[in-house]
Amino acid sequence: MKKLENLVSGAWQAGAGDGQALLDPTLGTELARVSAEGIDRAAALDYARRVGGAALRGLSFAARAKLLDAVAGVLTARRAAYIEIARANSGNTDADASFDIDGAIGTVRYFAKLGASLGESTLVREGEPFALSKNPALQGMHLAQPRQGVAIHINAFNFPAWGLWEKAAVSLLAGVPVLAKPAAATSWLTWQMVYDVTEAKVLPEGALSLLVGGIGDLLSHVGDADVVSFTGSADTAALVRGHRRVVERNVRVNCEADSLNAIVLGPDVAAGSAEFGVLVQEVVRELSLKAGQKCTAIRRILAPRARAGELIDALRAALGALPVGDPRRPEVKVGPLVTHAQRDDIQRGIATLATEAEIVHDGRSAPILAERPELGAFVAPVLLAAKDSATASLVHEVEVFGPVATVLSYDTPAEAFALVARGRGSLVSSVVSADPAFAREAILAMAPYNGRVMVLDDSTKKANPGHGAVLASLIHGGPGRAGGGEELGGLRGLWFYLQRAAIQGPEALLRELAASATTLPL
Ligand code: NAP
Repeated sequence: MKKLENLVSGAWQAGAGDGQALLDPTLGTELARVSAEGIDRAAALDYARRVGGAALRGLSFAARAKLLDAVAGVLTARRAAYIEIARANSGNTDADASFDIDGAIGTVRYFAKLGASLGESTLVREGEPFALSKNPALQGMHLAQPRQGVAIHINAFNFPAWGLWEKAAVSLLAGVPVLAKPAAATSWLTWQMVYDVTEAKVLPEGALSLLVGGIGDLLSHVGDADVVSFTGSADTAALVRGHRRVVERNVRVNCEADSLNAIVLGPDVAAGSAEFGVLVQEVVRELSLKAGQKCTAIRRILAPRARAGELIDALRAALGALPVGDPRRPEVKVGPLVTHAQRDDIQRGIATLATEAEIVHDGRSAPILAERPELGAFVAPVLLAAKDSATASLVHEVEVFGPVATVLSYDTPAEAFALVARGRGSLVSSVVSADPAFAREAILAMAPYNGRVMVLDDSTKKANPGHGAVLASLIHGGPGRAGGGEELGGLRGLWFYLQRAAIQGPEALLRELAASATTLPL
C-alpha cells in the first residue's frame, strides 16, 4: 500500500514503520498509509525558518501575491483529482468536496488579489509618524515585518483542503513559511495538494513543509518567533496552548476549537412564512453538508414556544427526505462520517443528548443507499427537542460532530439570547427574522458570545452563502469555548504573522520609512 511521505528539510521523507491506514469511510477499504515516525522535526522547523523564511521575506507583498496566484492555478488544474480523493478518503458528496476544495481555491485567489493591492512594499506601518512631545524632532511610529519563525498549522480532519489553504495563504502572503500538520485520518487530500504545488515549483524552497502522521515532538522544538495556528477539538487546543515549550517560549498561538452554534427563529416568524422556510432550509443544509461535520454547523435551534411544534414538524419532513448513503451515488445528500470511530462517537453523543432531550426525528431507521451499508460510517440526521429548555445543560456542552441538532423553545427574546450565551462562546449564530427591531436586539445581545452573527430574512435568500460558510473577507473564530481565536477577516488576518515594533527616531528618517510601508486594517 502506498505510504505518503513527509515534505521536510527540502525533501520528501518516508516515516518509519507501517504507519496509520487512511480508510474509505464508505467501503472500509484501505487507501494509503501515513507515518511521520522518526522524522526530525527540529531540523524541519530549522530548515523552514532559515530557507523558506529568508526567501519569503525577500519578496514584496505583490510578489508573494503572485505566488498565491500560481498556487491557485495548480490547484484549479487538478480539481477533478481532488474531488475523487475527497470522495474516497472523506466520504464526501460532490457538494461536500466542492465546499472544501473550491473554498480552498477561492480563499487562495482572494488573498492573491488582496496581496496585489499592497504593492511592492515589504513593510507595514500603522498610521503616520507622530511627535512624542512638544518638540517634534523625535517622532514615533509603529512598524511591522514578517515574524522570523515558521508558522505551524495544525488542522482538523473535516477540511483537508480549505484547512490547509485558509491558513497557508495568509501566512505566505505575510512572508512566513508554513509547516502544515493535517489530521492524519483525511490527510491524503492535503498531501496531494502539497505534492502538486511542490512538483510545479511555484513556491520558493522551504516555504511549505508537510508532516503527515502524528504530531510527535513537534511542539517541543518551537522557537520564540514561531507561531502555532491550531484547529480542532477544545481538548487538543488546551494541550497545544498548555504545552510546556509553547508556554516557556511565549509562542503566539491561535486556536479554532469546537463550538455549539445556534440559530434563532424570531418571534415575528409565522409557520409557513418565507422566513420559516429560510430557517428550515438553513438547518437542512447544515446537517447534510459534510454530514454535519463542520465546526460552524448548527447544533442548537431556538424557537418561540408557540412555534416549536410546527417547526419540528417541518424539520422532520425536510430531514426525512434527505437520501443518506454512498457519496458516489448522485442522489445522495448525506455521506458517511469521516471514520468509523467518529460514527461511534456520534452515536454515543446522541445517547448523551437524549438523556435531556427527546429524539423527535431519527433518520437512523431509514435505509442507507449503499451496496454494503454495514461497511460504512453512516449516521443519518437526528433531531432532538429539549424536554425542558431552562434546565437542559448537555445541549450547551456536548458537541456531537455530525448530522445532529437540538430544538430548544424560548418564551422571551431575553431568554433566547441567554440560551445562545450558554454555549460559552461560539463561532457563529444566526437569526431568522423580518423584524428589524428584533434583529438589531439579537445582533447586540449575541455578538459578545459569537465570532460571527448572521441575520437572514426573505430578502437575503439568494445572497446567502449559508450559516456555516466561512468567508475569507470576514473574521473566523469565536470567544471562549470556540477557541478565543481569529483567522482570515481579509488583510486583518496578516497581523497574526507580523511582528510589530514601536520605532522612535528623527522625523525625516521616520517619514522616509513610512513612505515605503503599506497599511493594513486593524
Ligand atoms: P482533534 O482530534 O483535536 O485534532 C486536531 C489536530 O490536532 C489533528 O491534526 C491532530 O492530529 C492534532 N493533534 C492530536 N494530538 C495533538 C497534540 N497532543 N498536540 C498537538 N496536536 C495534536 O480534532 P479533530 O477530531 O481532527 O477535528 C474535529 C474537531 O475540530 C471538532 O471538535 C470541530 O468542532 C473542530 N473544528 C474546529 C474548526 C474551527 O475553525 N473552529 C474547524 C474544523 C474543526 P492527528 O489527526 O494525527 O491526531
